[in-house]
Amino acid sequence: MTILDGKKVSNDIKDEIKQQVDKMKAKGEKVPHLAAVIVGNDGASLTYVGSKVRACERVGFESTMVRMSNTTSEIELLDKIEELNQDDNIDGFIIQLPLPPQINTQKVLMAVDPSKDVDGFHPENFGKMALDMSTFIPATPFGILELIDRYGVETQGKHTVVIGRSHIVGRPMSILMGRKGFPGNSTVTLTHSRTKNITQITSQADIIISALGVPNFLKAEMVKDDVVIIDVGITRVPDESSPKGYIITGDVDFENVSKKASYITPVPGGVGPMTIAMLLKNTLLAREQRM
Ligand code: NAP
Repeated sequence: MTILDGKKVSNDIKDEIKQQVDKMKAKGEKVPHLAAVIVGNDGASLTYVGSKVRACERVGFESTMVRMSNTTSEIELLDKIEELNQDDNIDGFIIQLPLPPQINTQKVLMAVDPSKDVDGFHPENFGKMALDMSTFIPATPFGILELIDRYGVETQGKHTVVIGRSHIVGRPMSILMGRKGFPGNSTVTLTHSRTKNITQITSQADIIISALGVPNFLKAEMVKDDVVIIDVGITRVPDESSPKGYIITGDVDFENVSKKASYITPVPGGVGPMTIAMLLKNTLLAREQRM
């Protein structure tokens, strides 16, 4: 069994990006600049944005965190987005989700200039992805592809089962794994909360990409020998013995499933760090496209 070490691979990617940024600096070029907009005080969102800002510092990018109050109106947020769209100094930006209930998320994501949409959530970029055109692939699916690629996991002709159909992970992942090329060329089954007999489906899978957010959902008896497991789930489970009062838990019963798997991502240290590395990669791409 091989651990798909997202922490190591993401550090390799950050080193590669840093080298490119150093070259840009040496030539006197502008370095990539990522902005992150966060509305409200959600603890997990602040942690994620904090990690993104630190990752920018690590590779030599400029970064800006835009904090807006929990009572921000949709109009105020749309105005801020327009400002970022027009700001030549910003190469790419993200709107950290979830947004407070008074704001329509879809409307907000559609207001982002597609050329700065480094999260790849705008319909124009999502459509390009589905049509195999060059675009910003959403960071988490992009990170999963990169892990598969760097470890040389065979995907062609395999049966890939994706659990979860969210717009940011499950749905794009199902499209990408079915694309012509590598990674891809899989036969894909997309499952969700209305899927019947899910165990029957997962136990036929060569590759399982689990993105539902239910801790320890995928058990050893639901998978076959030599399965490849990509665990996207991140859930904070209360734990008094931990200094933070919680532990981060994936969707997969790692201890038992890993005994049957050929490759598996740990949580933490698997898909999570890859997501941030690929956001940086998309931001570098955005800068290069603006030169
Ligand atoms: P989401 O929007 O909450 O969607 C969850 C999906 O799982 C839905 O499609 C839902 O089905 C399905 N589902 C729920 N319970 C199910 C069940 N019992 N059986 C089968 N399917 C079920 O989730 P998300 O935003 O994609 O996030 C999923 C997990 O990944 C979360 O833990 C999140 O924190 C994590 N995540 C991690 C990263 C990372 O960087 N590692 C990035 C993004 C998300 P319906 O559509 O029928 O409701």
